[in-house]
Amino acid sequence: MIYGYDLKNNILYMDEYQVPAYDIETNEMGVCSACGASLLSISYHSFDDKLIIVDTCPGCNSIYAHVYNTDWTWLDEIVISHFFSENNQGGDGGSGIIKERVGASVSFQLLNSIPMKQLQTIFSPAEINAMFARAKGDECIRQYLYNARKKYGTFDDVFGITINV
Ligand SMILES: [Zn+2]
Repeated sequence: MIYGYDLKNNILYMDEYQVPAYDIETNEMGVCSACGASLLSISYHSFDDKLIIVDTCPGCNSIYAHVYNTDWTWLDEIVISHFFSENNQGGDGGSGIIKERVGASVSFQLLNSIPMKQLQTIFSPAEINAMFARAKGDECIRQYLYNARKKYGTFDDVFGITINV
């Protein structure tokens, strides 16, 4: 499933579904797996039998969807890689956050152009976070970056894309 998020209207996109927030609340949400800063929730969503909290990291600007079942058992953490601006809803473009970053590094542009599903096939969420942080010039957890680097050859073999972060 591809996750996207409209920062302006607090709408979570899950594949073709648009899930508006049922609550907007800022709470501490644990620790960012990319940089270790405390995550802050942005909005709360309900979809099927799942509750999803979208939260953001003030340290590295990562945005996550944390998925729970209805009794708040944690199920999954997803790095949201696609953002939507008001001019580009439903497309695959970026919000201000990503657009400001593009141009900073060729590695980042390459990485950002790879569909998240492909990245998730080979890399763990923490490794993907580390790769994006590194490509953006932000701090990252080296161990995750090193783990990711060991898989670049595999990614190239499978998808024909050479990552160099
Ligand atoms: Zn972070």
